[in-house]
Amino acid sequence: MNWKVTIKLDLKDLAFLNSLWRNWSIKPPLFLRLVFPGTAWQEKVTEKKVFLTFDDGPIPQVTPWVINCLKEHGMVATFFCVGDNIRKHPDVFQQLRDNGMGIGNHTYSHKKAWRSSKADYLLDVDLYSDYYRANIFRPPHGQLYPWWIKDLKKRFSKIVMWDILTMDYDVKLGANDIVNNVINNVRSGSIIVFHDSIKSMPRLQSALPIVLDWIKKEGYKSALFSS
Ligand SMILES: [Zn+2]
Repeated sequence: MNWKVTIKLDLKDLAFLNSLWRNWSIKPPLFLRLVFPGTAWQEKVTEKKVFLTFDDGPIPQVTPWVINCLKEHGMVATFFCVGDNIRKHPDVFQQLRDNGMGIGNHTYSHKKAWRSSKADYLLDVDLYSDYYRANIFRPPHGQLYPWWIKDLKKRFSKIVMWDILTMDYDVKLGANDIVNNVINNVRSGSIIVFHDSIKSMPRLQSALPIVLDWIKKEGYKSALFSS
């Protein structure tokens, strides 16, 4: 009979860990930030500024809409592009550049660090540079080994993590949740992660205009990373 008890406990623990991880993901706690020394989770600023970021594009179905939405609100953002998407959609990538958006390296094939050797990972990072030489980097899924940071620092002036993960990719959430994840957590220097992806679009489409209106009303300006 003992195994039943064990399974029950395990499931309970799992649910607990899941909710803990979810909260950590939205707003990573200090100790998690300290595990990756030399990476940026929040920018030091002297005025009310936020750093809007969009990962995983550029794609024609979402990225041009995001650019327009930002322009309508007089805001800029940094796009951590996937190199393979730059290769497939050079015209959409050019729209980012023409509109003064920031560009970051997010690997060529959205490579997961925890499933790669360092050599393979860095090859993928460098393959991106054949398409565009970015000087900031964000690891896909936030996955990184602390002991890889020095190799990345040789290539990039900044490794950008996040202060707020909007969770816009989570199909279980509504646009309201995405809005709340931002407005409940935003502060000066916040680095906020959205995704210009097909998966995020249903929530992004409603949430982004509301978020941009709100941060503007609160007196925040959008900024690009200095490098
Ligand atoms: Zn990504």
